[in-house]
Amino acid sequence: MTTRRELEHCRAELTALPSGWDSWEALMRLAMEEAAKAEELGEVPVGAVLVTPDGEILARGHNRTITDNDPTAHAEILALRDAAATMRNYRVENAVLVVTLEPCMMCTGAMVHARVRGIVYGTTDPKTGVLASQMEALELPFQNHAIWHMGGVLAQECAAQLSAFFRKRREEHKLRKSDTAPC
Ligand code: ZN
Repeated sequence: MTTRRELEHCRAELTALPSGWDSWEALMRLAMEEAAKAEELGEVPVGAVLVTPDGEILARGHNRTITDNDPTAHAEILALRDAAATMRNYRVENAVLVVTLEPCMMCTGAMVHARVRGIVYGTTDPKTGVLASQMEALELPFQNHAIWHMGGVLAQECAAQLSAFFRKRREEHKLRKSDTAPC
């Protein structure tokens, strides 16, 4: 567990790029590949990867809420579950979660429980994001585990991936409506 004081003290060490990676953008591209898989399923394109300080990709996840009939099947939760199962440990301490969209309250809570070291996200989510948009959930005084976080990595590309999906969905809805409109 990392306390707030430890986080401030060891910030440079804790926020270091995983070995073998030359940028957070490179890791975000993997998360975007995951998001594209969600889109293929007709799901909102959000993708995540969990990476260790050694640079190993522990797990990947993409949004599957509709496909799995599971309101908790967000990209971050699925990546955490997968990593925890692989490690046979419900805590994935030291891993950094890289996700295309600012996490929601549920996922942020899960990441605190999992004791991840950091969260790197792409674009902000003004509606349900809780790291910066709706609130600063990781700064709440009762949080017993400090997590560093950074947004804005490939923000434009991640936002474009989402807005292209919603645009396409609106057009499909319009087409469907015009198909059923009485003449
Ligand atoms: Zn979420």
